[in-house]
Formats: sequence, C-alpha cells, structure tokens
Amino acid sequence: MTREGAGAESPVGGAGVQPSDVTTIRRSPEVLVLGGGIVGLCCAHVLSERGHRVEVLEALRPGSGATGAAAGMISPLVESDFDHTFARTCRTARDLWPAWAEWLAGESSVDLSFSTDGTLVPAYTTAGLQHLDRLQETAERLAENWERLDPDQVRELVPELRDGALAALLLPNEFSVDPAAVVEALRRILLRSGVLIHARRRVVSLRARQNGVDVEGEGWSASCDHVVIATGAGSGAIEGVGNLPIRGVRGQMISFGGFAAHKGPNLRAGGHYALRRGSELLVGATVEKSADDDAVTEAGRDELRDFALELFPGLQWKAVSRHWAGVRPAAPDELPVIGPLHSPRVVIATGHYRNGILLGPWTARVVADLIAHGRSTELPEEFSPNRF
Ligand SMILES: Cc1cc2nc3c(=O)[nH]c(=O)nc-3n(C[C@H](O)[C@H](O)[C@H](O)COP(=O)(O)OP(=O)(O)OC[C@H]3O[C@@H](n4cnc5c(N)ncnc54)[C@H](O)[C@@H]3O)c2cc1C
Repeated sequence: MTREGAGAESPVGGAGVQPSDVTTIRRSPEVLVLGGGIVGLCCAHVLSERGHRVEVLEALRPGSGATGAAAGMISPLVESDFDHTFARTCRTARDLWPAWAEWLAGESSVDLSFSTDGTLVPAYTTAGLQHLDRLQETAERLAENWERLDPDQVRELVPELRDGALAALLLPNEFSVDPAAVVEALRRILLRSGVLIHARRRVVSLRARQNGVDVEGEGWSASCDHVVIATGAGSGAIEGVGNLPIRGVRGQMISFGGFAAHKGPNLRAGGHYALRRGSELLVGATVEKSADDDAVTEAGRDELRDFALELFPGLQWKAVSRHWAGVRPAAPDELPVIGPLHSPRVVIATGHYRNGILLGPWTARVVADLIAHGRSTELPEEFSPNRF
C-alpha cells in the first residue's frame, strides 16, 4: 500500500472509509471532488466511469450532510412551478432514476428501497379539490401520467388515511429512494473502481492555476487537473470560491416505527409529505430559512407530528421514534448553482436545495461534460454561478 493511499478507501487496502492521516496527497489525481454527499459521490462515479482518475475529499464522512437527512422523494411534479426550466430539469432528472437505481442496486448489492408507487395528493376541502384540478391540468399538459381517485379508491389504496377525502390525484411517475442506501451503494462501487474517498479531510482553500488547481486543508495539500466543488451548504466557506451566496436552510424530519413492511404511494398535502420505508413512516419536512444548523427543535417536531396525525389519526397512539435534521444548500433564487467557477478547471455543483437527491445523477452527467468539454448542452443558463 502506498503512503498516499494510507487510511483512505482503496481497492487494495481500504476496508471502508477511514480518516486519512497523510499530510500531503502526493499523487496527482486528475479530478478532486470536494464533498461526499449525493452530488459529490454521483460526480465521482460518473467521472470515474468516463475514465478520469478521481479522489473525493470529505470533511466528515460520506452522507453526513443534507444527503443523510433527506427523505429521498423523487418528486418533480408537486415540488415546483411547472413551466419553469427548473421543473423541466427535475423531470429529466426523474426519468434517469429507474434504470440508474436498478443498476446501482445490482452492482452494489445494496437495497435502495426504490419505490415506484407514485405520489398521492388527497383533497379534503373545496380548495383542495381546486388544487387537484390545477395539478391534473398541468400533468395533462406535460403528458405526465395521472389518475383521479374517488373516495373508495383512496380508502382502498391507503386504508390508514383519514376518512373524508373528497378525491385524490395519483401521480404514478414519482418515486422515492433511501438516500443513505444510495450513499452506501456509491461508496461500494467507487471503492471497487479505485476511487479514493478521504474522510475527515476538510478543504479550507483552493487556487486555480493555468495548469491545475491547488487545494489545501489543515496541514495537508493536494494538486490536480480539475476540482469539483460539491460541498453543499458549506460551499461558500471555502477560500477561493468567492462571494457565492449559498446559505443553509434547515429541514427537520420525524419517523414513526413498528409498522409491518408495506409499500404504498408517497403522500403530499399542504407543503408536507409522508412516505413508508421498511417498518417506518417518514414525515417531513420543515423549511427553516433562518436556521442553518442541524439542531432539532420541539417546534419542528410538533409541526411534523401535527401534520402526520391530521393525515393518519391512528398515529395518536404512537410515539415519534426518530427526529433528525439536515441543512439544505440554497441560493437566493433557490435554483441549483452548476458550472465553471472563475476557471474552466473548477466546476461547482451545489444549491440543490430541496431536490438534491432527485437531481444528483443528472448533475453528475452535466459536471462530467463540463470537465471533459467545458460545456454541457443539458445545463440551463439559469443555473450558472455567474448569475450572482
Ligand atoms: C430534511 C430534508 C429532507 C430532504 N428531502 C429531500 C427529498 O425528499 N428529495 C430530494 O431530492 N432532496 C431532499 N432534500 C435535499 C437534499 O438532501 C439536498 O439537496 C442534497 O442532499 C444536497 O446534496 P449535496 O451533495 O450537494 O450536499 P450534502 O449532502 O450536504 O453534501 C456536502 C458534503 O460536503 C462536505 N463538506 C462541506 N464542506 C466541506 C469542505 N470544506 N471540505 C470537504 N467537504 C466538505 C459535507 O460534510 C457534506 O458531506 C432534503 C433535505 C433535507 C435537509
């Protein structure tokens, strides 16, 4: 084992992600990916598949940022303003998931809990019915599949749901996946393809030169041909990134446990959602624009529990089994920030806000094109880091 590989994940010596104890990464990887969330790991994977030599530098451990806290909804239709470029991108990204999830699960032997049971939006009031009408019209216009369910069909599909739904819209082309499982699957595949993942290696600064990029942390340094900045909400804190207005937006989630394993659609109502995964019901998420840490609060727990009880009255007998939070990376306009940053050798991919799981594989494809060709035909101008 070379000194450079010591303590890092490698196909020769690594048995998992370890803190790296080297003071200098002496080998010169072609691409250093900063950040081991879904965006960084997907980028590392696609870049490695396209023949680049890649290493990942992660401040803590892979999946420890927003990715590890996420619900994993792959839900482009009920998330955003439908006609916007962003919504179109989300649908393109969604379409990549079924084949990619199948491949990822097969290659890694990790169960991703990938669900293709769709999203159900129930309506209990006249205003709720009007919302369904608008959603249905939009789905029709976009040639998205939808199904209008009457109260009996709603009861049959989700028997635990509160009685009295006037109707519901089922969007069958919405999915969900377990983000922690995706991280583990990617970690295994990267390990096998020789991509080193250096844990506990926080990048403090970077500097682009004409022929490469220098990256520094506390007591170590590295050089490479290209850098991908995928450090989520922490991206603005790296010296050399410039005045990028990326902020953290806290999201809290809760879960109820002890259910028999059961599949079923994701449920959406009034800005919140609930989904079944294994023996748990996950309920999310708060959107706290004035909080950029991952602390959990009683108010957050109550907000989510009230929503869950409103939807599933039977939960009143159950205690919340888990309560956690993560910090979403958000730009002021809440659009992703993807593109070359000050130099063609430095590509940033952050600002995925509420849709980083959905957008991860798509982002990686775009980033790999930017590294190889300096441009991507798939990348909307609206996502450029130069817009600030
Ligand atoms: C509660 C909640 C629910 C969510 N639900 C969904 C959902 O259902 N569907 C969906 O699509 N999205 C969801 N999201 C959003 C999604 O989680 C994020 O958009 C996505 O995880 C962002 O991925 P990322 O890789 O950019 O960032 P992160 O996952 O935050 O990864 C960034 C990584 O960079 C590391 N890092 C930071 N600074 C440095 C540094 N200086 N040097 C080295 N490494 C560094 C961090 O430790 C971290 O591991 C949710 C988010 C939250 C909080």
